[in-house]
Amino acid sequence: MGETLSREIRLKNRPLGMPSEGDFELAQVKLPEIQTGQILVRNVYMSVDPYMRGRMHDREGYLPSFQIGKPLEGGTVGQVVESESTRFQVGDHVLSMQGWREFFISDGKDLIKVDPEKAPIQAYLDIMGMPGLTAYVGLLDFGKPKQGETVFVSAAAGAVGSAACQIAKINGCRVVGSAGSDEKVSWLVEETGVDAAFNYKNVDSLTHEFQSHCPDGIDIDFENVGGKHLEAALECMNPFGRVVLCGMISVYNATRPPRAPMNLVFSIPKRLTLKGFIVSDHFDRQPQFVKDMADWISEGRIKWKETILEGIENAPKAFLGLFSGYNFGKMLVKL
Ligand code: NDP
Repeated sequence: MGETLSREIRLKNRPLGMPSEGDFELAQVKLPEIQTGQILVRNVYMSVDPYMRGRMHDREGYLPSFQIGKPLEGGTVGQVVESESTRFQVGDHVLSMQGWREFFISDGKDLIKVDPEKAPIQAYLDIMGMPGLTAYVGLLDFGKPKQGETVFVSAAAGAVGSAACQIAKINGCRVVGSAGSDEKVSWLVEETGVDAAFNYKNVDSLTHEFQSHCPDGIDIDFENVGGKHLEAALECMNPFGRVVLCGMISVYNATRPPRAPMNLVFSIPKRLTLKGFIVSDHFDRQPQFVKDMADWISEGRIKWKETILEGIENAPKAFLGLFSGYNFGKMLVKL
């Protein structure tokens, strides 16, 4: 009981182009004693996610911008260490958006209890959490896969991508993925069961690579990368195909409008559906997602990987790693 010292990562500058560690600063704050109705939570795992890059700009978005000099925010799983609340007990695990800090005080309103018996707690930031739901909603609700169709997934060895690949396989599709290292490609083919994968960093022509791995064309492009990847996918899309615009990480740090895709016009004669979505609009799908994903995991049909850095001071490094492909699977920080 008493005051608690907590370290946190603040935004120091609004990055221009690729962020650097100098755009962040580590600070320490003293949290007061908790009051009636409050709890003190110690964060155990925090998530770093590509969407956070968009919140570093000073512009309107679907989430408010991060403020300079203030701690960043994001998904985290923590444990209650002090409680003056009737709803939470010491030892409970909670999911919150109070990331990038070691401790926080809460009245519990925006917290969700998670059960460590059902899954390792960090899985609630990964396969059982937001990235898993993103893959589920994007592929099933917007991709609308049919047995035997070809699905292409970019950033296929990442958190969302690897889940999308495996949900597509479960739905009877032929799945092809791209990733940025031979190790990731081997894992995709040997462990997750995708039908083909390639290292996009080792190819002369993305379009040629897409064509050779998708001889029957692409019915669903689950787009995580954008730019040249999207251009190559548009080239290979079959008539009435669905392009699920989940993310475009290749352009998040662009300082000029990206030049690709140059062939958007193909979407007209091919009668494509291009659908952007944001997972937080689809939390109504959470109960069914959790049920299906828990079943698939218990049946051994879903594999996932995590890259974990230790210590709050390494959170900026973990975040930057998303843009170099340092992460294999979900990027997390253990606090
Ligand atoms: P990942 O775990 O996939 O990590 C990002 C990966 O992107 C890296 O590991 C890297 O893998 C790849 N990458 C980075 N830069 C480039 C580049 N220039 N060209 C090609 N690949 C690149 O992250 P998430 O699973 O969290 O997110 C994946 C995508 O999904 C992102 O675009 C993200 O914005 C989006 N997303 C969208 C949501 C929504 O609601 N619409 C919700 C959550 C995520 P590699 O080694 O293969 O290069």
